[in-house]
Amino acid sequence: MKLHELADAFEHLEGTRSRVALVERVAALLRRATATERTPIVYLLQARLRPPFEQTEVAVGEKLLAQAVARAYHVSHARVAQRLARSGDLGLVAAELAAARLASRLTVHQAYDALLAIARVSGTGSVERKTSLLASLLSRAGPAGAKLVARVAQGRLRLGVGDQTILEAAALAALGDRSKKPLLEHAYNVRSDLGTVVDLAFTKGAAGLAGVGPEVGIPVRPALAQRLPSAEAIIARLGEVQAEPKYDGFRLQIHRRGSRVWAFSRRLEDVTSMFPELVAAARRQLVPRTAILEGEAVVYNPETGEFLPFQITMTRKRKTRIAEAAERTPVRLFAFDLLYTGRRNYLPVAQATRTHALRAALRASPDAPIAVTEARVIARPRELQTYFDEMIERGLEGIVAKRLDAPYQAGARGYAWVKLKRAYQSALRDTVDVVLVGYFRGRGKRAALGIGSLLGAVYDPRGDRYRTVAKIGSGLSDRAWTSLRTLLDAHAVPERPVNVDALITPDVWVEPAIVVEVLADEITRSPFHTCGRHDDEPGYALRFPRVVNAPRSDKAPTDATTEREILTLYRQQRRTPTEARPRSRNTRARGTAKRAPR
Ligand code: AMP
Repeated sequence: MKLHELADAFEHLEGTRSRVALVERVAALLRRATATERTPIVYLLQARLRPPFEQTEVAVGEKLLAQAVARAYHVSHARVAQRLARSGDLGLVAAELAAARLASRLTVHQAYDALLAIARVSGTGSVERKTSLLASLLSRAGPAGAKLVARVAQGRLRLGVGDQTILEAAALAALGDRSKKPLLEHAYNVRSDLGTVVDLAFTKGAAGLAGVGPEVGIPVRPALAQRLPSAEAIIARLGEVQAEPKYDGFRLQIHRRGSRVWAFSRRLEDVTSMFPELVAAARRQLVPRTAILEGEAVVYNPETGEFLPFQITMTRKRKTRIAEAAERTPVRLFAFDLLYTGRRNYLPVAQATRTHALRAALRASPDAPIAVTEARVIARPRELQTYFDEMIERGLEGIVAKRLDAPYQAGARGYAWVKLKRAYQSALRDTVDVVLVGYFRGRGKRAALGIGSLLGAVYDPRGDRYRTVAKIGSGLSDRAWTSLRTLLDAHAVPERPVNVDALITPDVWVEPAIVVEVLADEITRSPFHTCGRHDDEPGYALRFPRVVNAPRSDKAPTDATTEREILTLYRQQRRTPTEARPRSRNTRARGTAKRAPR
């Protein structure tokens, strides 16, 4: 396939608003691709070159890309800047400048290999080398191809095609029926490499997909917890449970094969270099030489034994501070699950057995960096409530109650795990993670910051789209507003992204990329929001929302609270009328000024 053919297909997708049509067009594209083109095309559809855990992305900044564009078409920087100011999109600038050139004969393979080579450039002189390779590729790509190359280089394709859409399209193209998507989903949850899974669907069919097991070095999509409003509700639904403390840290999946150890984040990124002390500990403490386990990494003060808040855990993102941080505030991993050993795939195995096997797989000692999370089997609501209260007393976030006989539900937010968190000063006992899809410039003092409120949405996995649930205007300091705006501007788009369903139009639309944690008083019906809206029924909205944590960079947009969860929360608050009673604005203001310590 020629690059310009792929670029034309992408352009077609970009203009497609109907999801059914989108799935069909992606399916047609996959069918048209040859066997070796399929995997690269799947990654390109996601504006990437390889799966997230490989960290092989071009990811160049606007400045470098603008330089490459100027060089490719022999125009001045000023001219590129001028055109960029007009369209706001270097992809379009490249396409305009390339228009005068001869038709491109570049193939998808050639372009993909060139992009990979650019992504792999490192060391001294790498900026210059990347610029010249990118310029050379752009000059050969033709107008549509140049737009695609420029956008992939920035990691923003603006197609609105999410993983769920690709899985459905692949089910249609490879298995002949979009209803076979769960087969692909299962494989993708266990082996989070979309390119490989789509290829497997074509080459090995349903049987091949069903046979996919965990593989060391490739993260398993993490199981997530549902929420229920009380200890009674948990026991009523799950029966006897295994109750565990809920640590508020950084979720890690540790993989080991011999002396090689990986750490993956909840977003499936390779974060091994952030946790040198855990890598060393995994080699020492893990009994099986091949294993995958999961836990929550928490920073603690070795002198007081006290846990430090989540934000501090996150400072390790800055590479230069890692060695210093590992010394001063070491990390402890509270392991809570075992997914795989060289001998056995534990995913289908019952929770109680997995926990037992986890204990046997770790050489634990009181001060060792990897500890097994304590777990208590509890059958009575009163006892569960007492356990919860104890955990809160200990400064923890709450508890996670786990069904004893449930398998590990990779990639799913099921009722096998239920979280119960500290009651905030609010009718809602838990925060909601919303994806930002736009912002308003604001009035008065905020106008000076250029941002006054946010348009937040929740995720609808079935429609692979984001539906608005709140307009959020409080909870952040001026500095935090400004830095959030910078972050949002990097994702700004001229019109509503295709995968956003909204009735409200913000001043600036942004692609769904950034997640913030929001606390609200309650959920109300609303004619302005699209979450839960169907036919003539109004939607649902968060009442008095305020940001309590932004951005939650450990969460991908698809990890945000789902539309279904909002409906459940709405029903739950109705069942506990005393808690759901709306309170006056004054009470709320006092209640939220101070968030209970994490
Ligand atoms: P949430 O992020 O609010 O959906 O809560 C789920 C998260 O709690 C998981 O993704 C883990 O990172 C974290 N967590 C903390 N302690 C545990 C535990 N004992 N079992 C499972 N998850 C836990």
